[in-house]
Amino acid sequence: MSPPENKISPLKNPASSLWGVGAERAAQLARLGIFTVEDLLLHRPKRYEDRRHFRKISELTKDEAFTARGKIVALGLKRFCGGSKSVFEIILDDGSARLHCRWWNLPFMENYFAMGDEVFVFGKLKEPKPRTMDHPETEVIEGGEESFIHINRIAPIYPLTEGLPQRWLRGLAWRTLGKFETEIAEPTPAPDLKFFPARANALRMIHFPEELADLEIARRRLALDEFVALQLQIQSRRKSFEARTKALPCGGDNRLMKPFLAQLGFKLTEAQTKVLREIRHDMGGAHPMRRLLQGDVGSGKTAVAACSALMAVESGFNVALMAPTEILAEQHFRNFQKWFEPLGIKVELQTGSRKTVESRESRVEGQKQSVRWTLDPRPSTLFIGTHALLTGGFDLPKLGLVIIDEQHKFGVAQRETLVRKGNYPHLLVMTATPIPRTLGLTLYGDLDVSVIDEMPGGRGKIKTFVRETEKLPKVLEFIREKLAAGRQAYVVYPRVEDSGAKELKAVTTEFENLKKMFAPFKVGLLHGRLKGAEKEAVMADFRANKIQVLLSTSLIEVGVDVPNATVMLVENAEAFGLAQLHQLRGRIGRGAHESFCILISDAKNVEARGRLKILEETDDGFKIAEADLKLRGPGELLGREQSGLPNFRFGNLAEDLNLIRQARELTTKCLAQAK
Ligand code: ADP
Ligand code: MG
Repeated sequence: MSPPENKISPLKNPASSLWGVGAERAAQLARLGIFTVEDLLLHRPKRYEDRRHFRKISELTKDEAFTARGKIVALGLKRFCGGSKSVFEIILDDGSARLHCRWWNLPFMENYFAMGDEVFVFGKLKEPKPRTMDHPETEVIEGGEESFIHINRIAPIYPLTEGLPQRWLRGLAWRTLGKFETEIAEPTPAPDLKFFPARANALRMIHFPEELADLEIARRRLALDEFVALQLQIQSRRKSFEARTKALPCGGDNRLMKPFLAQLGFKLTEAQTKVLREIRHDMGGAHPMRRLLQGDVGSGKTAVAACSALMAVESGFNVALMAPTEILAEQHFRNFQKWFEPLGIKVELQTGSRKTVESRESRVEGQKQSVRWTLDPRPSTLFIGTHALLTGGFDLPKLGLVIIDEQHKFGVAQRETLVRKGNYPHLLVMTATPIPRTLGLTLYGDLDVSVIDEMPGGRGKIKTFVRETEKLPKVLEFIREKLAAGRQAYVVYPRVEDSGAKELKAVTTEFENLKKMFAPFKVGLLHGRLKGAEKEAVMADFRANKIQVLLSTSLIEVGVDVPNATVMLVENAEAFGLAQLHQLRGRIGRGAHESFCILISDAKNVEARGRLKILEETDDGFKIAEADLKLRGPGELLGREQSGLPNFRFGNLAEDLNLIRQARELTTKCLAQAK
């Protein structure tokens, strides 16, 4: 817990209390998210200009951004098209050469410049002859008392909003730093100042660095403070949760587990067993379990979920299992029915399109569901569902354990809603998206983590290839061979219907083509716009090998388990994220046969090709996730709206693992001492 603040810091004063900030400026600052003095101090420059050294205009090269400085030797506004269009131009001279700067259709620019003005410009050279820039950023150099803030130094260039001059904001930042520097306190907990600059210094350095190397030093300190603030939140929440809750005793006694394992048909891997020990320890412990189970696709999380469920049932509690899609909920329903019903455990399904409970309910006329269940003398039901498990009128009685499969598809808020349904049941969150460690420590910082780091044996290898579209006929021929040998295949396209983007093939149009191409083998079509029952019918046919090729959108990405399918063809592969492609690839390689993942892409740019190459080179989900995080950021990786992460100004989740670890340690120590 952070110590109580006995006085309100002056940094919380409104920005309008600063000298020179009237109503209009305050409104402009507010548009930049600056409401208080502190917000201003944390307003991070978007770039810096080293105004101690300039490139000569004569030395400028095309298409490279740079800063130059010169004197206006000519300027003028030209209007054309009957006055509706215009171009304003200034010509700068720095003694080495001249530079033309143009602004199209912004005639008011005329008001900002005068003959003889000294000007900084930042931009790219568009034409070398005469040297021309369009719409550069500019700043007129003014003399006077404060000129040292703007010239002969590394100057911050801030993100701006309309009407707010760069120079004015820089002056404000300078004066505010000077005035409030002594008020910038070290937070609790603060890092060792042997290794980090003081916070006040870091803020000065981020605005007015003496050397460019200062910037990273300052950024790291400010990022650390952000991570500490988040860790404080996470860890205090967890602590107060543990203080106010008592665990339901769900350790189990093995009486169902033994027969279950005996009929499972395989032996648990060591990794699965280790994870189960951790889970049993939690479920028999003093606090409700809050555990994240990570395991790459195919590592066997479902069996672990089943064993955990059995522990709760043995202890006299019911269990809820939530899956992100109906297909996956159905698949779990079928598996768990097969596994659990012989043990006398009821398995119920509740999705948007199918409710086994409701249909039974209609036979028990006039009785409420909850009444029927509480009348049940020995609770032993596993409820399986999608988010429909969360929606109204469905009261899950005597809930001992909640399992959430493929957590990355659920928001934090949904997770909490489900858990609050019971009397603080144990929570097991499972994910196949290997979460880069930085995210694990932030987004899931309030969960304990178990990892299944070993694959079950007896799996065929997966080979991955990236190919261009012109190779498609050969690839299809190859798939036909595999079909003829008795295997099945997935074909994945990124979109459902032609979205107008020509380069994205659409599943619905391609369906007819593929049917002809693969005849006499049968092709099924699966996409998100189908009704639940239709989806399930297609999946059932594919599972039963009545359909040999399943054409789909990325819908099948999570969880689907059909071991006879050994080919995954993904078209327009560059349209998918790496983690997503890895998930898709996880649909194959589930049986004993060798499997093939073929990624079709005509992407020409080096970055896109490099990305896909990572998949050819590794099947280590963690490596892939980290690469994806670096390339696309956490929002993309987790689903933008649901990542629930704060927006860091200085922290970088792709790079700052060490800082995050330090923040965590600092916080843990601090909270332990606060006790
Ligand atoms: P995921 O972790 O991706 O959810 P699943 O639980 O769907 O993986 O398991 C993938 C496949 O591996 C399933 O067919 C499952 O029956 C099988 N499996 C799980 N554990 C083992 C094991 N210990 N030995 C052999 N096969 C296993
Ligand atoms: Mg799974």
